[in-house]
Amino acid sequence: MSKKILILPGDGIGHEIVAETVKVLQCLRSEFALNVETEQALVGGAAYDVHATPLPDETLDLAKHADAVLLGAVGGYQWESLDIAVRPEKGLLGLRAGLDLFANLRPAILYPQLADASTLKPEVVSGLDIMIVRELTGGIYFGQPRGVRELENGEREGFNTLVYKESEVDRIVRVAMDIAMKRDKRLCSVDKANVLECTELWREVANRVGESWPDVELSHMYVDNAAMQLVREPKQFDVMVTTNMFGDILSDCAAMLTGSIGMLPSASLDEQGKGMYEPIHGSAPDIAGKNQANPLATILSLAMMLRYTLEEAEMAQRIEDAVNHVLDQGFRTQDICSSGKAVSTSEMGDAVCAAMLESS
Ligand code: NAD
Repeated sequence: MSKKILILPGDGIGHEIVAETVKVLQCLRSEFALNVETEQALVGGAAYDVHATPLPDETLDLAKHADAVLLGAVGGYQWESLDIAVRPEKGLLGLRAGLDLFANLRPAILYPQLADASTLKPEVVSGLDIMIVRELTGGIYFGQPRGVRELENGEREGFNTLVYKESEVDRIVRVAMDIAMKRDKRLCSVDKANVLECTELWREVANRVGESWPDVELSHMYVDNAAMQLVREPKQFDVMVTTNMFGDILSDCAAMLTGSIGMLPSASLDEQGKGMYEPIHGSAPDIAGKNQANPLATILSLAMMLRYTLEEAEMAQRIEDAVNHVLDQGFRTQDICSSGKAVSTSEMGDAVCAAMLESS
């Protein structure tokens, strides 16, 4: 039976980068017999303009019934003055919550051809390939109680709660273990077990889960050291797993090691491995509609979908090899072009399709 992909272009450059990704998907269907069906729906500002909500019931329903979701990006200047409850970004949060996407996978890959794009020395980052697995639906961002209260002396006090159940740690570490098995079989769990009881428990559960993956080398690192090591010697890491807040910070840090926001894909998965796949960047309203955006982060998000949800590793590899090939050939959109003439969004999409066909 064919698998169903829901396509949500969203707003801004979302339309352009998703169109190129659909081109790549069509190429896999027609030339390599990939058996998938697609549907398309509205989300974000585009959905608000039609339905007065950034996440119409119909879109959420289609997402729940699809095997995987491909999202472009949401947001834009014209929706910035809306009430926060109906801003485009709420559509994204609603999808994550509605689909119970608790595992966020953020690879930080630096293609050797783009080593100059990083602010770090090329020898430190060239060939970098880290996968950060961030817990996405728990921890301090969601813990209760939270708020700002007034003390007896009239001073105000802000408070949040860091809380993780064993089951929440268990399931995210399992996801990370499975991923490590598909890579170099090394997993570093990041915590602050020397100070926070909650992450002391995190470490204990990680060790317990680790017993079921004897082939994976499990290590632990305090988050402050992890931040330091990421900029000192990032290639020491294979897979990292961590809490919601630590993952938020470390994955942005790791992404910036690569220096190119237009190159990085991401995935958010539920317990069955169903997922939403999207580039890490936003809708880039400053360049929307100009055929300038880099579509590779979205195209690589499709590759992640094929690998992690649709179990089509060979198809994923075709895309990743093609991206490598076009970079070797010197194709660069403006965000990764340090000299010479940049190619357009659609020229980059065409080049990836051509590289896939060439390799067949
Ligand atoms: P952004 O990621 O959209 O843009 C930051 C900078 O990077 C801009 O200069 C932009 O031109 C550039 N850029 C981003 N993606 C690019 C690409 N593929 N190719 C070339 N250049 C690219 O972040 P922002 O400007 O802070 O936010 C713009 C809008 O996007 C806001 O409405 C924000 O809320 C939204 N946003 C959405 C998501 C999402 O949908 N997941 C994530 C972040 C921001």
